[in-house]
Amino acid sequence: MRKKQAKKQAANKIQLIAEVEMTGQIIIPVGDAVAVVRQNNRLFFECTRCSNDYGDISIGDPKMNAIMREKSISEVNPWNKYGKADQFVVREYYCPKCGIMISANMQKKDEPLMMDMELSKL
Ligand SMILES: [Zn+2]
Repeated sequence: MRKKQAKKQAANKIQLIAEVEMTGQIIIPVGDAVAVVRQNNRLFFECTRCSNDYGDISIGDPKMNAIMREKSISEVNPWNKYGKADQFVVREYYCPKCGIMISANMQKKDEPLMMDMELSKL
């Protein structure tokens, strides 16, 4: 039963991706919400839902041009209030055009943004 559900979910995911009209050729999917796309010899990060252009891959991570929301770890789970909630935050990143979440990280408050990836030459 679980295998059937997993297969159905995978099929839905593929269908969802196929419905999106990307502006160029997808080179590398980066999770479900972002892909590296090539168009006219330009490589850039693009939203898989709305085709928002996050910028050239030289920015390193599409989070650099996403909208960030920072919230307390207690908002994520009330049990976190018993931990070191004053020292940690959750940073969520969203597409500025359609609002889909592209990433989330839990970090110490004073840490710089956590880069999930860094692409070099393709
Ligand atoms: Zn988008």
